[in-house]
Amino acid sequence: MSGFSAFDLLPPILTAIQEAGYSDPTPIQTQAIPPLRLGRDLLGIAQTGTGKTAAFALPILDRLARRRVKAGPKQTRALILTPTRELAAQIDTSFATYGRRLKMTRAVIYGGVGQFTQVRNMGPGVDILTATPGRLLDLMNQGHVKLDRLEIFVLDEADRMLDMGFINDIRRVISHLPVERQTLLFSATMPDEIAHLAQGLLSDPLRIEATPPATTVERVEQKVLFVEKGDKRAVLANLLSQEDLTRALVFTRTKHGADKVVVDLNKRSIEAEAIHGGKSQGARERALGRFRSGDARVLVATDIAARGIDVSDISHVINFDLPNEPESYVHRIGRTARAGREGIAVSLCDITEVGLLRAIEKTIRIPIPVDTDHPHHAQAVAEIRESSHQPAMPGRSNPRAAASRPPREFRNTAARPRQSQNRSEARSDPHAAPAPSRPAPRTDAKPAARPFRNKTRRTSP
Ligand code: AMP
Repeated sequence: MSGFSAFDLLPPILTAIQEAGYSDPTPIQTQAIPPLRLGRDLLGIAQTGTGKTAAFALPILDRLARRRVKAGPKQTRALILTPTRELAAQIDTSFATYGRRLKMTRAVIYGGVGQFTQVRNMGPGVDILTATPGRLLDLMNQGHVKLDRLEIFVLDEADRMLDMGFINDIRRVISHLPVERQTLLFSATMPDEIAHLAQGLLSDPLRIEATPPATTVERVEQKVLFVEKGDKRAVLANLLSQEDLTRALVFTRTKHGADKVVVDLNKRSIEAEAIHGGKSQGARERALGRFRSGDARVLVATDIAARGIDVSDISHVINFDLPNEPESYVHRIGRTARAGREGIAVSLCDITEVGLLRAIEKTIRIPIPVDTDHPHHAQAVAEIRESSHQPAMPGRSNPRAAASRPPREFRNTAARPRQSQNRSEARSDPHAAPAPSRPAPRTDAKPAARPFRNKTRRTSP
């Protein structure tokens, strides 16, 4: 029995959920589905990645299917307003997926394409319409869409609508809705204007907040130690002597560097193995076997060799050298904190690597805390990092190019608040006003496990 069974949704919906491969509801689904099924209004502070689409689509399908009435010509029973055509298409696909065993009619309306098919689809009326505001208003003004018999209204990504200059279009659409209806408003943030809009729009709403699951970058405890190049081996030996370090993966930039580190550690009576492309398959497997069994607590690897390593319970990832590619940093630290566990990543940064550090921080959009509390702290390196001024994480520039420039300081070291959306989606509606600048979206630097992240879906609306 799936975790959705408790919601008392219609059997064809439960079957479709199962077929979609969902076994348990996400937190927002658990909170939202029961009250929405009963017709409550909802204010959802949630962004994409939380499973919010199913949180509203499932109860909407359930409600519409339980009270079967035919929509009148050009009418829709449910309207989902969303800022971009990509989102509109995605939401429509979700309704198609969850409603595939119900006979529901759907239409999608957005700008940037001819209106002929959209007008034709709306002719007989539909159960569910997903639309962007500009084109919807156009078609309403031309008399092709009517909303006076609407039962359920969803305003999705309200803060982004505001950013994109849709607020007046939204107000116009709302003025055509019947008073008697169920209303849901979703927004990642709650600027005053949206709070005000919500107040007038919703009636005794349930308020729910949800954030997407943490990314690898957020789950791993990270720190950087500024050191002289010549002190790195001593610092490493020091780190490896810590009690809480049960299994460490140490990264070097080169094969030669990996071998040298292992020789040095062995000299210090620390059992360590190296794994890199210069070793035979047999030697690599032996090294990995000793690391897995715990005979060697330390495995020293290059980025490429580390790719195939799947060893659980790595308590520490240590970057003996910082990677040239900022993305590799995320791959590296993802070796710890596997399967939702916490892990620790320590980076050793010498004077030649400050630019690389800056590029990494720019990529992950989080400043890495500096640990000065060790005997080899190199103040000179710290000062280089502090010595020049550049606003933290400015827009997207090439981090690799940045790595080759002289290091500059981060003026703003506070971690950025979570942001809602991918800007790339934002400009797809031709009715959109120029988007004012917003804080940069967070980068869930690539390999992070995102169980509920949006996939790019193709659809034929
Ligand atoms: P959303 O936040 O609605 O954009 O959903 C993000 C992704 O999570 C989509 O790819 C959904 O297919 C997926 N998803 C939604 N609910 C669940 C669930 N209960 N179990 C697994 N995946 C889900």
